[in-house]
Amino acid sequence: MLERTLSIIKPDAVERNITGKVNAMIEEAGLRIVAQKRIHLTVKQAEEFYREHKDKAFFTSLVDFMTSGPVIVQVLEGEDAVSYYRKIMGATNPAIAEEGTIRKTFALSIDKNTVHGSDSIESAKREVGFFFSEIEICD
Ligand code: ADP
Ligand code: MG
Repeated sequence: MLERTLSIIKPDAVERNITGKVNAMIEEAGLRIVAQKRIHLTVKQAEEFYREHKDKAFFTSLVDFMTSGPVIVQVLEGEDAVSYYRKIMGATNPAIAEEGTIRKTFALSIDKNTVHGSDSIESAKREVGFFFSEIEICD
């Protein structure tokens, strides 16, 4: 099924100026970037975006990291885009991510792990709507 998913190129990758390299992997994998913008999240926005993790031990450091510099938020479109993007991103911890995945290639650590991708069709809907209005998405 043709789906849309929300991707974030995280501050570690923006800081290293490798957003084009990440986008190239996304496109080479067959996904289409149908919306994209560069933003600097506020603490409030990051806390709201990651609210499902608010009781986790890493929540404060996650919010600190995600607000430490600009990010690229983007909408990806393709066949089974939600689960397919999770696959090409690789595991949360780059140490155990599969060869050839974005995180295996670029991530620095379990927290500075280069990309975010929605984890279900339901979260993809919420997360795309969090950053984009329909008029900003063009396929
Ligand atoms: P994913 O991004 O793979 O969906 P989670 O939703 O579980 O992973 O976690 C959200 C983000 O929080 C991760 O991408 C990572 O940046 C950070 N994170 C997760 N687990 C840890 C951890 N144990 N220590 C530090 N940061 C973590
Ligand atoms: Mg997640």
